[in-house]
Amino acid sequence: MPIEINWMEEVNKRKSSIIEDTQKFLQIKSVLDENETSIDAPLGVGIAKALQFLLNKGENDGFIVKNLNGLAGHIEYGTGKELIGILCHVDVVPEGDGWTSDPYGAEIRENKIFARGAIDDKGPTIAAYYALKIVKELGEPFQKRVRIILGTDEESNWRCVDHYFKHEEMPTMGFAPDADFPIINAEKGILDFTLTQHFQASGEQGEIVLQSFQAGRRLNMVPDMAVAILECKTEKSGDLLKEQFVLFLQNNNVKGKAVLRDHTVELKLEGISAHGMEPNNGKNAGLLLNQFLAKQHLDNNGTKFSTFVNQYLGQETRGHTIGIAFEDQISGELTINCGILSYDRAGIGEIGLNLRYPVSHKIEESKKKIIAIAEGNGFSYTELDDSKPHYVDEQTPFIQILKKVYEQQTGGKAELLAIGGGTYARSLTSGVAFGPLFPGRPDVAHQKDEYIEIEDLLRATAIYAQAIYELVKN
Ligand SMILES: [Zn+2]
Repeated sequence: MPIEINWMEEVNKRKSSIIEDTQKFLQIKSVLDENETSIDAPLGVGIAKALQFLLNKGENDGFIVKNLNGLAGHIEYGTGKELIGILCHVDVVPEGDGWTSDPYGAEIRENKIFARGAIDDKGPTIAAYYALKIVKELGEPFQKRVRIILGTDEESNWRCVDHYFKHEEMPTMGFAPDADFPIINAEKGILDFTLTQHFQASGEQGEIVLQSFQAGRRLNMVPDMAVAILECKTEKSGDLLKEQFVLFLQNNNVKGKAVLRDHTVELKLEGISAHGMEPNNGKNAGLLLNQFLAKQHLDNNGTKFSTFVNQYLGQETRGHTIGIAFEDQISGELTINCGILSYDRAGIGEIGLNLRYPVSHKIEESKKKIIAIAEGNGFSYTELDDSKPHYVDEQTPFIQILKKVYEQQTGGKAELLAIGGGTYARSLTSGVAFGPLFPGRPDVAHQKDEYIEIEDLLRATAIYAQAIYELVKN
Protein backbone atom coordinates (compact mmCIF):
# COMPACT_ATOMS: atom_id res chain seq x y z
CA MET A 1 0.00 0.00 0.00
CA PRO A 2 1.48 3.36 -0.99
CA ILE A 3 1.61 5.81 1.88
CA GLU A 4 -0.10 8.47 -0.16
CA ILE A 5 -3.44 7.33 -1.47
CA ASN A 6 -4.96 9.63 -4.04
CA TRP A 7 -8.52 9.55 -2.80
CA MET A 8 -10.00 11.60 -5.59
CA GLU A 9 -8.41 9.26 -8.11
CA GLU A 10 -9.92 6.25 -6.36
CA VAL A 11 -13.30 7.95 -6.49
CA ASN A 12 -12.96 8.88 -10.16
CA LYS A 13 -12.23 5.25 -11.05
CA ARG A 14 -15.74 4.48 -9.77
CA LYS A 15 -17.37 7.69 -10.97
CA SER A 16 -19.90 6.20 -13.38
CA SER A 17 -21.21 3.63 -10.90
CA ILE A 18 -21.43 6.26 -8.15
CA ILE A 19 -23.56 8.46 -10.40
CA GLU A 20 -25.68 5.56 -11.68
CA ASP A 21 -26.35 4.18 -8.20
CA THR A 22 -27.25 7.65 -6.92
CA GLN A 23 -29.76 7.98 -9.76
CA LYS A 24 -31.28 4.53 -9.16
CA PHE A 25 -31.56 5.21 -5.43
CA LEU A 26 -33.21 8.60 -6.07
CA GLN A 27 -35.71 7.02 -8.45
CA ILE A 28 -37.28 5.16 -5.53
CA LYS A 29 -39.93 7.47 -4.08
CA SER A 30 -39.18 6.97 -0.39
CA VAL A 31 -41.76 9.27 1.18
CA LEU A 32 -43.45 8.24 4.43
CA ASP A 33 -46.77 6.59 3.63
CA GLU A 34 -48.75 5.57 6.70
CA ASN A 35 -51.64 4.38 4.52
CA GLU A 36 -49.76 1.60 2.85
CA THR A 37 -47.80 -0.20 5.54
CA SER A 38 -47.08 -3.84 6.28
CA ILE A 39 -44.90 -5.81 8.68
CA ASP A 40 -41.90 -5.49 6.36
CA ALA A 41 -42.74 -1.94 5.37
CA PRO A 42 -43.83 -0.16 8.57
CA LEU A 43 -43.36 3.28 6.99
CA GLY A 44 -44.66 2.45 3.52
CA VAL A 45 -43.50 0.60 0.43
CA GLY A 46 -41.18 3.31 -0.93
CA ILE A 47 -39.09 3.59 2.21
CA ALA A 48 -38.84 -0.20 2.53
CA LYS A 49 -37.67 -0.44 -1.10
CA ALA A 50 -35.03 2.26 -0.63
CA LEU A 51 -33.69 0.55 2.49
CA GLN A 52 -33.60 -2.83 0.75
CA PHE A 53 -31.89 -1.32 -2.31
CA LEU A 54 -28.86 -0.40 -0.21
CA LEU A 55 -28.84 -3.57 1.88
CA ASN A 56 -28.87 -5.66 -1.32
CA LYS A 57 -25.97 -3.66 -2.70
CA GLY A 58 -24.08 -4.12 0.54
CA GLU A 59 -24.64 -7.85 0.52
CA ASN A 60 -23.49 -8.14 -3.09
CA ASP A 61 -20.35 -6.18 -2.28
CA GLY A 62 -19.44 -8.48 0.59
CA PHE A 63 -20.53 -6.46 3.60
CA ILE A 64 -22.43 -7.71 6.62
CA VAL A 65 -25.94 -6.28 6.40
CA LYS A 66 -28.91 -6.22 8.73
CA ASN A 67 -32.48 -5.08 8.37
CA LEU A 68 -34.19 -4.15 11.62
CA ASN A 69 -37.90 -4.66 10.94
CA GLY A 70 -37.87 -2.26 8.01
CA LEU A 71 -37.30 0.63 10.40
CA ALA A 72 -33.53 0.81 10.08
CA GLY A 73 -30.59 -1.18 8.84
CA HIS A 74 -26.85 -1.29 8.69
CA ILE A 75 -23.97 -2.16 6.41
CA GLU A 76 -20.87 -3.22 8.32
CA TYR A 77 -17.22 -3.96 7.66
CA GLY A 78 -14.09 -4.45 9.71
CA THR A 79 -13.08 -5.99 13.02
CA GLY A 80 -12.22 -4.65 16.43
CA LYS A 81 -13.87 -3.58 19.62
CA GLU A 82 -14.59 -0.01 18.62
CA LEU A 83 -17.41 0.88 16.30
CA ILE A 84 -17.58 3.90 14.03
CA GLY A 85 -21.05 4.90 12.93
CA ILE A 86 -21.99 6.78 9.79
CA LEU A 87 -25.59 7.76 10.17
CA CYS A 88 -27.61 8.36 7.00
CA HIS A 89 -31.28 8.28 6.11
CA VAL A 90 -33.17 6.87 3.13
CA ASP A 91 -36.49 8.70 3.60
CA VAL A 92 -37.26 12.01 1.89
CA VAL A 93 -39.82 14.78 2.35
CA PRO A 94 -42.70 14.94 -0.16
CA GLU A 95 -41.69 16.54 -3.45
CA GLY A 96 -44.10 19.53 -3.42
CA ASP A 97 -44.86 21.58 -6.53
CA GLY A 98 -43.00 23.53 -9.17
CA TRP A 99 -40.32 21.07 -10.35
CA THR A 100 -38.62 21.60 -13.70
CA SER A 101 -38.25 17.83 -14.21
CA ASP A 102 -39.67 14.68 -12.59
CA PRO A 103 -38.75 14.87 -8.87
CA TYR A 104 -38.00 11.13 -9.01
CA GLY A 105 -36.38 11.18 -12.44
CA ALA A 106 -32.86 12.00 -11.20
CA GLU A 107 -32.20 13.91 -14.40
CA ILE A 108 -28.72 15.28 -14.95
CA ARG A 109 -28.43 18.89 -16.13
CA GLU A 110 -25.42 21.20 -15.85
CA ASN A 111 -23.46 18.58 -13.90
CA LYS A 112 -26.13 18.33 -11.22
CA ILE A 113 -28.44 15.45 -10.36
CA PHE A 114 -31.96 16.76 -9.76
CA ALA A 115 -34.31 14.79 -7.49
CA ARG A 116 -36.02 14.88 -4.15
CA GLY A 117 -33.41 13.58 -1.72
CA ALA A 118 -30.40 14.42 -3.93
CA ILE A 119 -28.68 16.41 -1.16
CA ASP A 120 -30.90 15.27 1.77
CA ASP A 121 -29.88 12.56 2.23
CA LYS A 122 -29.65 10.00 -0.56
CA GLY A 123 -26.72 11.47 -2.50
CA PRO A 124 -24.60 11.67 0.68
CA THR A 125 -25.71 8.15 1.64
CA ILE A 126 -24.30 6.80 -1.63
CA ALA A 127 -21.14 8.86 -0.99
CA ALA A 128 -20.73 7.22 2.43
CA TYR A 129 -21.41 3.80 0.95
CA TYR A 130 -18.80 4.15 -1.78
CA ALA A 131 -16.35 5.59 0.73
CA LEU A 132 -16.54 2.40 2.79
CA LYS A 133 -16.40 0.29 -0.38
CA ILE A 134 -13.25 2.06 -1.58
CA VAL A 135 -11.41 1.58 1.72
CA LYS A 136 -12.45 -2.06 1.78
CA GLU A 137 -11.26 -2.60 -1.80
CA LEU A 138 -7.88 -1.02 -1.04
CA GLY A 139 -7.35 -4.01 1.24
CA GLU A 140 -5.96 -2.21 4.29
CA PRO A 141 -6.69 -3.93 7.59
CA PHE A 142 -9.48 -2.39 9.67
CA GLN A 143 -8.65 -2.01 13.38
CA LYS A 144 -12.20 -0.88 14.05
CA ARG A 145 -15.61 -1.79 12.74
CA VAL A 146 -17.49 0.69 10.57
CA ARG A 147 -21.23 0.71 10.22
CA ILE A 148 -23.30 2.73 7.84
CA ILE A 149 -26.52 3.02 9.80
CA LEU A 150 -29.56 3.60 7.62
CA GLY A 151 -32.48 5.46 9.14
CA THR A 152 -35.91 5.61 7.57
CA ASP A 153 -37.82 8.23 9.51
CA GLU A 154 -35.47 11.20 9.89
CA GLU A 155 -37.87 13.58 8.16
CA SER A 156 -40.73 12.72 10.51
CA ASN A 157 -40.46 11.14 13.93
CA TRP A 158 -37.04 9.50 14.22
CA ARG A 159 -38.71 6.15 14.98
CA CYS A 160 -35.79 4.61 13.05
CA VAL A 161 -33.00 5.64 15.42
CA ASP A 162 -35.21 5.06 18.46
CA HIS A 163 -35.76 1.49 17.32
CA TYR A 164 -32.21 0.96 16.12
CA PHE A 165 -30.45 2.00 19.31
CA LYS A 166 -32.88 0.04 21.43
CA HIS A 167 -31.52 -3.10 19.77
CA GLU A 168 -28.03 -2.27 18.52
CA GLU A 169 -24.87 -0.93 20.12
CA MET A 170 -24.12 2.77 20.16
CA PRO A 171 -21.02 3.56 18.07
CA THR A 172 -17.99 4.82 19.99
CA MET A 173 -17.97 7.78 17.64
CA GLY A 174 -19.55 8.74 14.40
CA PHE A 175 -20.73 11.28 11.92
CA ALA A 176 -23.87 12.06 9.98
CA PRO A 177 -23.52 13.34 6.42
CA ASP A 178 -26.83 15.19 6.73
CA ALA A 179 -25.99 18.86 7.23
CA ASP A 180 -22.97 21.05 6.45
CA PHE A 181 -19.24 20.85 5.94
CA PRO A 182 -16.86 21.35 7.62
CA ILE A 183 -18.01 19.95 10.99
CA ILE A 184 -20.91 20.79 13.30
CA ASN A 185 -19.93 19.75 16.82
CA ALA A 186 -22.35 21.83 18.90
CA GLU A 187 -26.13 21.92 18.65
CA LYS A 188 -28.26 23.90 21.04
CA GLY A 189 -30.91 22.30 23.19
CA ILE A 190 -34.46 22.77 21.94
CA LEU A 191 -37.33 23.32 24.36
CA ASP A 192 -40.91 23.52 23.09
CA PHE A 193 -43.58 24.66 25.49
CA THR A 194 -46.87 26.47 25.75
CA LEU A 195 -48.19 28.96 28.27
CA THR A 196 -51.94 28.78 28.66
CA GLN A 197 -54.07 31.53 30.09
CA HIS A 198 -56.91 30.54 32.35
CA PHE A 199 -59.99 32.49 31.50
CA GLN A 200 -61.50 34.44 34.31
CA ALA A 201 -65.14 35.43 34.12
CA SER A 202 -65.23 39.12 34.72
CA GLY A 203 -68.08 41.54 34.89
CA GLU A 204 -66.00 44.54 34.15
CA GLN A 205 -65.45 45.13 30.46
CA GLY A 206 -63.35 47.75 28.73
CA GLU A 207 -64.26 49.96 25.83
CA ILE A 208 -63.03 47.28 23.44
CA VAL A 209 -63.41 43.51 23.78
CA LEU A 210 -60.76 41.25 22.26
CA GLN A 211 -62.80 38.57 20.52
CA SER A 212 -60.01 36.57 19.03
CA PHE A 213 -56.35 36.73 18.17
CA GLN A 214 -54.40 34.32 15.99
CA ALA A 215 -50.82 34.22 14.78
CA GLY A 216 -48.67 31.31 13.59
CA ARG A 217 -49.17 27.58 13.36
CA ARG A 218 -45.77 26.12 14.19
CA LEU A 219 -43.53 26.72 17.16
CA ASN A 220 -40.36 26.69 15.05
CA MET A 221 -41.47 29.34 12.58
CA VAL A 222 -41.76 33.10 12.98
CA PRO A 223 -45.43 33.95 12.25
CA ASP A 224 -45.80 36.06 9.13
CA MET A 225 -49.45 36.93 9.68
CA ALA A 226 -51.53 37.96 12.68
CA VAL A 227 -55.24 38.66 12.87
CA ALA A 228 -57.20 40.15 15.75
CA ILE A 229 -60.94 40.71 15.93
CA LEU A 230 -62.18 43.31 18.35
CA GLU A 231 -65.65 44.42 19.33
CA CYS A 232 -66.04 48.11 20.03
CA LYS A 233 -68.78 49.59 22.20
CA THR A 234 -69.32 52.50 19.87
CA GLU A 235 -68.72 53.21 16.22
CA LYS A 236 -66.55 56.11 17.25
CA SER A 237 -64.14 53.93 19.18
CA GLY A 238 -64.03 51.59 16.17
CA ASP A 239 -63.06 54.47 13.89
CA LEU A 240 -60.41 55.63 16.31
CA LEU A 241 -58.95 52.12 16.62
CA LYS A 242 -58.75 51.85 12.87
CA GLU A 243 -56.98 55.18 12.59
CA GLN A 244 -54.47 54.32 15.28
CA PHE A 245 -53.75 50.99 13.67
CA VAL A 246 -52.98 52.55 10.29
CA LEU A 247 -50.55 54.89 12.03
CA PHE A 248 -48.99 51.98 13.93
CA LEU A 249 -48.41 50.12 10.66
CA GLN A 250 -46.73 53.16 9.15
CA ASN A 251 -44.54 53.74 12.19
CA ASN A 252 -43.38 50.13 12.16
CA ASN A 253 -43.01 49.99 8.41
CA VAL A 254 -45.17 46.88 8.00
CA LYS A 255 -48.16 46.01 5.86
CA GLY A 256 -51.60 45.35 7.24
CA LYS A 257 -55.24 46.23 7.11
CA ALA A 258 -58.07 47.33 9.39
CA VAL A 259 -61.65 46.58 8.40
CA LEU A 260 -64.58 48.02 10.34
CA ARG A 261 -67.98 46.33 10.11
CA ASP A 262 -70.70 47.64 12.40
CA HIS A 263 -68.98 47.51 15.77
CA THR A 264 -66.39 44.93 14.85
CA VAL A 265 -62.86 45.71 13.73
CA GLU A 266 -60.60 43.15 12.11
CA LEU A 267 -56.90 43.96 12.28
CA LYS A 268 -54.43 42.16 10.05
CA LEU A 269 -50.69 42.54 10.21
CA GLU A 270 -48.07 41.02 7.93
CA GLY A 271 -44.65 40.08 9.24
CA ILE A 272 -41.79 38.11 7.74
CA SER A 273 -41.47 34.38 8.22
CA ALA A 274 -38.18 32.78 9.26
CA HIS A 275 -36.99 29.59 10.89
CA GLY A 276 -37.31 29.61 14.67
CA MET A 277 -33.60 28.91 15.14
CA GLU A 278 -32.90 32.59 14.31
CA PRO A 279 -36.04 34.63 14.84
CA ASN A 280 -34.10 37.83 14.11
CA ASN A 281 -34.18 36.84 10.45
CA GLY A 282 -37.92 37.44 10.46
CA LYS A 283 -40.45 39.87 11.81
CA ASN A 284 -42.94 38.38 14.24
CA ALA A 285 -46.41 39.49 13.12
CA GLY A 286 -47.97 38.11 16.31
CA LEU A 287 -45.77 39.98 18.75
CA LEU A 288 -46.05 43.20 16.79
CA LEU A 289 -49.83 43.12 16.59
CA ASN A 290 -49.90 42.22 20.26
CA GLN A 291 -47.83 45.31 21.04
CA PHE A 292 -50.57 47.38 19.46
CA LEU A 293 -53.30 45.56 21.36
CA ALA A 294 -51.51 45.99 24.67
CA LYS A 295 -51.89 49.77 24.34
CA GLN A 296 -55.68 49.64 23.89
CA HIS A 297 -58.34 49.73 26.58
CA LEU A 298 -59.30 46.10 26.26
CA ASP A 299 -61.56 43.98 28.43
CA ASN A 300 -59.96 42.33 31.47
CA ASN A 301 -59.07 38.99 29.93
CA GLY A 302 -57.85 40.56 26.71
CA THR A 303 -55.74 43.00 28.72
CA LYS A 304 -54.24 40.19 30.78
CA PHE A 305 -53.29 38.26 27.70
CA SER A 306 -51.80 41.10 25.68
CA THR A 307 -50.05 42.71 28.64
CA PHE A 308 -48.45 39.44 29.67
CA VAL A 309 -47.16 38.80 26.16
CA ASN A 310 -45.94 42.35 25.77
CA GLN A 311 -44.23 42.46 29.15
CA TYR A 312 -42.46 39.09 29.04
CA LEU A 313 -41.88 38.54 25.33
CA GLY A 314 -42.08 42.04 23.93
CA GLN A 315 -40.37 42.19 20.55
CA GLU A 316 -37.05 40.65 21.44
CA THR A 317 -35.80 37.16 20.76
CA ARG A 318 -33.12 36.55 23.39
CA GLY A 319 -35.20 36.07 26.52
CA HIS A 320 -34.06 39.29 28.26
CA THR A 321 -37.60 40.38 29.15
CA ILE A 322 -38.43 37.05 30.77
CA GLY A 323 -35.03 36.95 32.49
CA ILE A 324 -33.42 33.90 30.88
CA ALA A 325 -30.97 35.48 28.42
CA PHE A 326 -27.74 33.49 28.22
CA GLU A 327 -24.76 33.11 25.95
CA ASP A 328 -21.70 30.87 25.81
CA GLN A 329 -18.52 30.68 23.76
CA ILE A 330 -19.26 27.33 22.19
CA SER A 331 -22.80 27.80 20.95
CA GLY A 332 -23.72 31.48 21.14
CA GLU A 333 -26.91 33.07 22.38
CA LEU A 334 -30.11 31.58 23.70
CA THR A 335 -32.96 32.32 21.30
CA ILE A 336 -36.68 32.33 21.87
CA ASN A 337 -39.31 32.25 19.16
CA CYS A 338 -42.96 32.93 19.79
CA GLY A 339 -44.39 30.69 17.07
CA ILE A 340 -48.03 30.68 18.11
CA LEU A 341 -50.26 33.27 19.73
CA SER A 342 -53.90 32.42 20.02
CA TYR A 343 -56.70 33.86 22.05
CA ASP A 344 -60.37 33.14 22.07
CA ARG A 345 -62.71 35.12 24.24
CA ALA A 346 -64.91 32.08 24.77
CA GLY A 347 -62.00 29.83 25.52
CA ILE A 348 -58.42 30.31 26.43
CA GLY A 349 -55.29 32.15 25.46
CA GLU A 350 -52.24 30.22 24.34
CA ILE A 351 -48.63 31.18 23.70
CA GLY A 352 -46.45 28.62 21.91
CA LEU A 353 -42.70 29.01 22.30
CA ASN A 354 -39.58 27.44 20.84
CA LEU A 355 -36.49 28.04 22.91
CA ARG A 356 -32.98 27.13 21.76
CA TYR A 357 -30.44 27.12 24.55
CA PRO A 358 -26.64 27.01 24.51
CA VAL A 359 -24.85 23.80 25.49
CA SER A 360 -23.76 25.10 28.90
CA HIS A 361 -27.10 26.66 29.80
CA LYS A 362 -28.85 25.48 32.96
CA ILE A 363 -32.24 24.91 31.41
CA GLU A 364 -33.94 23.61 34.57
CA GLU A 365 -33.32 26.96 36.27
CA SER A 366 -34.81 28.80 33.31
CA LYS A 367 -37.85 26.52 33.37
CA LYS A 368 -38.37 27.34 37.05
CA LYS A 369 -38.22 31.05 36.27
CA ILE A 370 -40.67 30.77 33.40
CA ILE A 371 -43.09 28.66 35.44
CA ALA A 372 -43.00 31.12 38.36
CA ILE A 373 -43.71 34.06 36.06
CA ALA A 374 -46.45 32.19 34.22
CA GLU A 375 -48.22 31.03 37.36
CA GLY A 376 -47.94 34.44 38.96
CA ASN A 377 -49.88 35.83 36.01
CA GLY A 378 -52.62 33.22 35.70
CA PHE A 379 -50.92 31.11 33.05
CA SER A 380 -49.86 27.48 33.19
CA TYR A 381 -46.74 25.91 31.67
CA THR A 382 -46.93 22.78 29.50
CA GLU A 383 -43.73 21.21 28.25
CA LEU A 384 -44.03 19.61 24.83
CA ASP A 385 -40.45 18.54 24.23
CA ASP A 386 -36.97 19.14 25.61
CA SER A 387 -34.24 17.89 23.32
CA LYS A 388 -30.96 18.31 25.18
CA PRO A 389 -27.97 20.13 23.68
CA HIS A 390 -25.45 18.07 21.78
CA TYR A 391 -21.73 18.68 21.96
CA VAL A 392 -18.54 16.84 21.10
CA ASP A 393 -15.29 18.38 22.33
CA GLU A 394 -13.07 19.77 19.60
CA GLN A 395 -9.97 18.20 21.18
CA THR A 396 -11.14 14.60 20.77
CA PRO A 397 -8.84 12.70 18.36
CA PHE A 398 -11.92 11.84 16.32
CA ILE A 399 -12.66 15.49 15.48
CA GLN A 400 -8.99 16.19 14.91
CA ILE A 401 -8.94 13.46 12.26
CA LEU A 402 -12.04 14.79 10.50
CA LYS A 403 -10.53 18.29 10.52
CA LYS A 404 -7.26 17.09 9.06
CA VAL A 405 -9.01 15.11 6.32
CA TYR A 406 -11.27 18.00 5.37
CA GLU A 407 -8.37 20.44 5.19
CA GLN A 408 -6.19 18.11 3.14
CA GLN A 409 -8.92 17.39 0.64
CA THR A 410 -10.40 20.85 0.21
CA GLY A 411 -7.54 23.17 1.07
CA GLY A 412 -10.07 25.08 3.16
CA LYS A 413 -10.01 25.62 6.90
CA ALA A 414 -12.12 23.18 8.95
CA GLU A 415 -13.79 25.65 11.32
CA LEU A 416 -16.10 23.97 13.76
CA LEU A 417 -19.71 25.11 13.61
CA ALA A 418 -22.31 25.50 16.33
CA ILE A 419 -25.95 25.68 15.29
CA GLY A 420 -29.39 26.27 16.74
CA GLY A 421 -30.99 23.49 14.78
CA GLY A 422 -30.93 19.82 15.57
CA THR A 423 -29.13 17.54 13.11
CA TYR A 424 -29.38 13.78 12.81
CA ALA A 425 -25.95 13.56 14.47
CA ARG A 426 -27.55 14.17 17.87
CA SER A 427 -28.90 10.64 17.88
CA LEU A 428 -25.29 9.43 18.17
CA THR A 429 -23.79 9.84 21.66
CA SER A 430 -20.48 11.10 20.19
CA GLY A 431 -21.60 12.25 16.79
CA VAL A 432 -20.99 15.28 14.64
CA ALA A 433 -22.51 16.46 11.39
CA PHE A 434 -19.91 16.19 8.61
CA GLY A 435 -21.18 17.48 5.25
CA PRO A 436 -22.52 17.12 2.66
CA LEU A 437 -23.16 20.81 1.89
CA PHE A 438 -19.92 22.65 1.16
CA PRO A 439 -19.49 26.25 2.34
CA GLY A 440 -20.99 28.72 -0.10
CA ARG A 441 -23.32 26.23 -1.76
CA PRO A 442 -27.03 27.12 -1.60
CA ASP A 443 -29.09 24.85 0.64
CA VAL A 444 -31.68 23.23 -1.61
CA ALA A 445 -32.85 20.52 0.81
CA HIS A 446 -36.65 20.32 0.99
CA GLN A 447 -36.93 22.80 -1.94
CA LYS A 448 -38.27 22.27 -5.43
CA ASP A 449 -35.55 21.30 -7.93
CA GLU A 450 -33.38 19.85 -5.16
CA TYR A 451 -30.03 18.77 -6.57
CA ILE A 452 -26.52 17.68 -5.76
CA GLU A 453 -23.53 18.89 -7.76
CA ILE A 454 -21.83 15.81 -9.18
CA GLU A 455 -18.49 17.37 -8.27
CA ASP A 456 -19.62 17.67 -4.63
CA LEU A 457 -20.96 14.12 -4.56
CA LEU A 458 -17.56 12.84 -5.65
CA ARG A 459 -15.61 15.19 -3.39
CA ALA A 460 -17.71 14.12 -0.38
CA THR A 461 -17.05 10.47 -1.26
CA ALA A 462 -13.30 11.11 -1.25
CA ILE A 463 -13.48 12.95 2.08
CA TYR A 464 -15.53 10.19 3.71
CA ALA A 465 -13.22 7.51 2.31
CA GLN A 466 -10.11 9.13 3.73
CA ALA A 467 -11.90 9.79 7.03
CA ILE A 468 -12.85 6.11 7.33
CA TYR A 469 -9.29 5.07 6.41
CA GLU A 470 -7.71 7.36 9.00
CA LEU A 471 -10.20 6.39 11.68
CA VAL A 472 -9.79 2.61 11.31
CA LYS A 473 -6.04 2.35 10.72
CA ASN A 474 -5.09 2.47 14.43
ZN1 LIG B 1 -31.71 14.88 6.22
